[in-house]
Amino acid sequence: MTYFMIQRCTACGAAGYPRRTLCRRCLADALVDEAAGAGRILAVARLHRSFEQAFADRLPMLIGTVLLDAGPHLHCFLAPDARAGDRVGIACVADGDGGILAHAEPEG
Ligand SMILES: [Zn+2]
Repeated sequence: MTYFMIQRCTACGAAGYPRRTLCRRCLADALVDEAAGAGRILAVARLHRSFEQAFADRLPMLIGTVLLDAGPHLHCFLAPDARAGDRVGIACVADGDGGILAHAEPEG
């Protein structure tokens, strides 16, 4: 499994996503990558249509917002039976079209 990475500031400890060159809290440039780890699903939406051809055979599909334990929010793809409040881990999955997608998988 490839883990989704966030940035951690070694000066103040703040976690950040998306990537930046300076810490959003203290403006230090002392940022290191770390695995996003787990989080909790805050919101779920069912996607019935998409302009992306790569998703055509996966519709309808769930997308949602996850609050990571480290602090940042992340919008990502969800498992078909995901519900708000579920604990999830975040993984990177190849989309088959050369891209990488963040995927929330049930924790455990
Ligand atoms: Zn900082």
